Amino acid sequence: MSENYNSMWENLGLDLSAHDALLEALGKSYRDIYLAQKHRPQGMGYFDFVMSEVHGLRIKELIDEKAAGRKVIGSFCVFVPEEIVRSAGATLVGLCTGADFATDEAENFLPRNTCSLIKSAFGFKLGKVCPYIESADMIVGENTCDGKKKSYEVLNDLVPNLYVMDLPQMKSDEGRALLKAEYLRFKEAVEKLTGITIDAARLKKGIEIVNNKRKAIYRLLSLRKVDPAPISGLDALLANQVFFYDDPTRFTLSVNKICDELEQRIEKKQGVFPENTPRILISGCPMAVPNWKLPWIIETSGAVIVGEESCVGERGTRNLTHDSASTVDELMEAIVDRYFKVDCAIFTPNPDRLNHIEEMVETYKADGIIHYGLQFCQPYLMESMPVEKALEAKNIPTLRIDTDYSTEDMGQLKTRVEAFVELIKLKHVPT
Ligand code: SF4
Ligand code: SF4
Repeated sequence: MSENYNSMWENLGLDLSAHDALLEALGKSYRDIYLAQKHRPQGMGYFDFVMSEVHGLRIKELIDEKAAGRKVIGSFCVFVPEEIVRSAGATLVGLCTGADFATDEAENFLPRNTCSLIKSAFGFKLGKVCPYIESADMIVGENTCDGKKKSYEVLNDLVPNLYVMDLPQMKSDEGRALLKAEYLRFKEAVEKLTGITIDAARLKKGIEIVNNKRKAIYRLLSLRKVDPAPISGLDALLANQVFFYDDPTRFTLSVNKICDELEQRIEKKQGVFPENTPRILISGCPMAVPNWKLPWIIETSGAVIVGEESCVGERGTRNLTHDSASTVDELMEAIVDRYFKVDCAIFTPNPDRLNHIEEMVETYKADGIIHYGLQFCQPYLMESMPVEKALEAKNIPTLRIDTDYSTEDMGQLKTRVEAFVELIKLKHVPT
């Protein structure tokens, strides 16, 4: 980190020695996993910089925005509509949930058999190491899975500014009506927080900014259709993760620049891995920063990841919000339409997700799928079995992985992934 941010972190109430230990561990795994990769696009230097300053410069920017009267809103889920936040001149940031921290303390509040993602959110808060959660003027929780829903009742006692959004569980007319009512209630809450009335012009601008960000990341993801893949799955995942933190306009510019470089690489057939490397699609639970364990295992086992059917990936970023309407009500309808298509496993039944996985296999020419489920995540673990059956019936090799954020099962996972990659080589890849 180029500057000393200690006084900023101290003012935010962080525990400096615990925070130093976190940054050291994060820096080491970034060097070992990211900087050790070969043939990376030069444009990834931007993301290296963002990651080196993820608790530094980016937090300073947020604090400067707050000093200028703008608000920061933290979120744990892709159902929180960034368009509404942006249209009130506020900034939406993802909250740290990708690593174990202060797990013992978190387990004083949550049962042990809670998924790592939820435990991590509590651990970062209780361990006082997340400058994003401490900078947020509002923290939005959502009633998605039971684990999150109940944990927000507990989190409510730990933070002063929790807002809970109710979400439907069925893709019915009633479900859509609930989503619309909740988005209108959220709009009001954001207006109250910021003191800004969201009119049609503001909403259109918010939609435009977020759509541009989605178009850029979607462009990057689409360039992975070719063989050899011009960017590693690890680097594409990083871009997907930074999507939740960075200034959206700068992110859009930087990703489009990387895409220009990737297009040149494709023309020259320059890949990160040789042609005919087995191509894997990851599907399942979201992978928040710095959860890079499984992708690292896959890409050091002779395969390349070509897509993520995940909220930190295509499930979260596909589908634009239509911006052609001219009234607030019509634009809000467009926002509801866009988000109601998100096929999270909390919905029942949820056939769209399986259709999307199959579509992605075809689009990205995947040779096999690795279904990633976090231990104790009932929605995704339950869906993983019918997903596996349906894919195997179509002769698409599928490996189901249940894991957590610890490193204890790395050896065992590597053995399983290597065997899966060998199987794919025998079955699918031309020799
Ligand atoms: S998996 Fe579901 S609950 Fe989790 S971020 Fe995605 S939409 Fe939200
Ligand atoms: S990973 Fe599963 S259990 Fe954990 S928060 Fe997401 S949906 Fe809930």
